[in-house]
Amino acid sequence: MVLAAVTAEKPFAPGLEASGVVFNVQKFSLHDGQGLRTLVFFKGCPLRCQWCSNPESQSPWPELAVNPALCLGPRACGRCLSICPAGAIAEREGAIAFNRGQCAQCLACAKECPTGARFVYGRRLTVLEIVQKVEEDSVFYQRSGGGLTISGGEALGQPAFALELLKEAKKRRLNVALETSGAYGFETLAQAALYVDELFYDLKHWDEAAHLKGVGLGNREIVATLRRLAREFPQKKIVARVPVVPGFNDSLSDLKRIKALAPVNKDGQAAVEFLPYHRLGEIKYAFLGRPYPYKGVRPDQAKFESLKDELVG
Ligand code: SF4
Ligand code: SF4
Repeated sequence: MVLAAVTAEKPFAPGLEASGVVFNVQKFSLHDGQGLRTLVFFKGCPLRCQWCSNPESQSPWPELAVNPALCLGPRACGRCLSICPAGAIAEREGAIAFNRGQCAQCLACAKECPTGARFVYGRRLTVLEIVQKVEEDSVFYQRSGGGLTISGGEALGQPAFALELLKEAKKRRLNVALETSGAYGFETLAQAALYVDELFYDLKHWDEAAHLKGVGLGNREIVATLRRLAREFPQKKIVARVPVVPGFNDSLSDLKRIKALAPVNKDGQAAVEFLPYHRLGEIKYAFLGRPYPYKGVRPDQAKFESLKDELVG
């Protein structure tokens, strides 16, 4: 089954005015492609990986987040109290109380909050705004062979916007990489691949049932799409990316079977990268008022290194 994109890209204007919702633009990245890169993270993802380190990427829309540690309180500030049209904010025992279930996501309180205690994940940007930001670092790309990497969330969840951005980046001779979960199927990916120098493709599990349980979607289409992509774009650099997640896929036998699904590079080796599980995103679950499904699961760097040695060493 190929998923339909859940998109925040409408109403849609083509070319430089095309816009989509992005939750981060990260400069000077040394990963996710060759050289020094600017990473653009699209908002919206059809998967729900239990260990997701970017929970703010999952909804396609801008969304309210709250960091109570930055709040000045109702007496020193209290601006948000009078603003909320939904009655979701109240004063209780000298502090600001927030009823998230009542919040209408109008985002008005975040605009007024002077400290950033209330803030928004995600903003709408046009293709022009993004390429101008990316090109600020052109001198570094020329020296390092770097460029633009589009990531997410799932970049192809806003397919028309992604395509306009990719075309414009190529027109400007930027090196372009795309990270994808493959969840939107071959046709969307094949259109994007025409404008991409390097593709990073997530492989999370070899087993359909385990994939469904950990990610919320089976892997059959995802694996089939990767195979077809490698077959129909033999000149394209495609690298499988495998998050090594405790209790999900962190056994040598599982990882060997996942590696066997990876494309093969020109040297006849599996084009695959293994990435360690981390908990850097945990605090963001709290800001979004959501439980962290992997609470209590600790990264095991020594085990990860030893598995990696066995797999690629
Ligand atoms: S506007 Fe911000 S700092 Fe002021 S009371 Fe509300 S949350 Fe706290
Ligand atoms: S986003 Fe709007 S509805 Fe939600 S708490 Fe803020 S002001 Fe109220």
